Amino acid sequence: MIDSRIPVAVLGATGAVGQTFIRLLAGHPWFRVANVAASERSAGKSYRDATRWIEGEMPADVAGLTVTTCDPSLVDAPVVFSAMDAAAASDVEAAFAKAGRVVLSNAKNYRMDADVPLVIPEVNASHLRLIETQRATRGWSGAIVTNANCASTTAAVAMAPLHEAFGLRTVFISTMQAVSGAGYPGVPSLDILGNVIPYIGDEEPKIEREMQKMLGRFTGSTVEAAPFVVSAHANRVPVENGHTVCLTLGFERKPTPEDAIRVLRAWTGDPIVRGLPSAPALPIRYRDEPDRPQPRRDVMDGRGMTTSVGRVRADTILDLRLVAMSHNTIRGAAGCSILNAEVLVHTGVIARGAGA
Ligand code: NAP
Repeated sequence: MIDSRIPVAVLGATGAVGQTFIRLLAGHPWFRVANVAASERSAGKSYRDATRWIEGEMPADVAGLTVTTCDPSLVDAPVVFSAMDAAAASDVEAAFAKAGRVVLSNAKNYRMDADVPLVIPEVNASHLRLIETQRATRGWSGAIVTNANCASTTAAVAMAPLHEAFGLRTVFISTMQAVSGAGYPGVPSLDILGNVIPYIGDEEPKIEREMQKMLGRFTGSTVEAAPFVVSAHANRVPVENGHTVCLTLGFERKPTPEDAIRVLRAWTGDPIVRGLPSAPALPIRYRDEPDRPQPRRDVMDGRGMTTSVGRVRADTILDLRLVAMSHNTIRGAAGCSILNAEVLVHTGVIARGAGA
């Protein structure tokens, strides 16, 4: 039987996010994994031998693929999911875009470029049209689309409906970030077990700049950043998966907690995502329990794509406080990239049957 699904490649396929791609793409109705690529260390080995598989069973059809280096001449898939280490991503992702591939990247390198979409589809799918500007500016037949830092993603989803309704002005955020956010093997166990590390390299600056772009306004050819300021504290905690963020928010039009909860419950995000294979039924689940959300209990809600929000209450300094939590390697990385690619298929930017 001919498999008419779109062939896709995963760059950085051996790492924590790369493995999440492989798991989420197993049995995907539109995409099939055709190429896996990583560093010179892994190239030439079977995926089974190159990868220290973290969770569940490795999909059998990918286990036997040979890992290549991240070189467009060795990878024929038209759609490329990148879970590469940022240190190597700049040149490689540009080379793939130049070679006509649509690259969906998790690396930080291109996120803040004015012509590169930084997208959570429920929040700002319209920004994907920046691809037209990017192609005109850079002369690429392919494109680079990015998704945000995982903690920025958790917060941006929770803030999007509130910003839309009440206009954010001031954001204070303190994060409790899972160890899987540091990749594999990541943080040494003796550093993190029974401990909290109040520092994650380069994390606070990313959180302080990415959310304004995602919640910004698309003008037709550029994005005007949303006019709020962010102050961030980033902490690593001994949780396997799921970044929790405590937010204290100030608004242009001060909402009551009841107004905010009503808005959060009613929000379904951009309708363009409805019915797409990776879209959760609810992008936000508001929880009434006084002690939720919790990573252990809520991280797999919506197959890891739902952001859990709770504890909305009045604040003594700004207007509101709340807690949000979502899965960092799914909602905050691979799942978000795959949903971006599904929107691009749905809108015809990625051709169905491309390469089939
Ligand atoms: P990771 O577990 O350390 O994996 C890194 C991957 O990059 C591995 O497959 C590695 O291949 C590959 N790589 C390293 N150097 C390379 C090179 N010179 N050329 C080609 N490939 C190379 O990291 P991760 O947590 O999966 O993160 C991957 C990317 O996603 C990073 O940019 C990270 O910032 C971003 N991100 C991570 C998360 C998260 O929650 N973990 C969330 C959002 C974004 P080898 O196995 O061959 O070394």
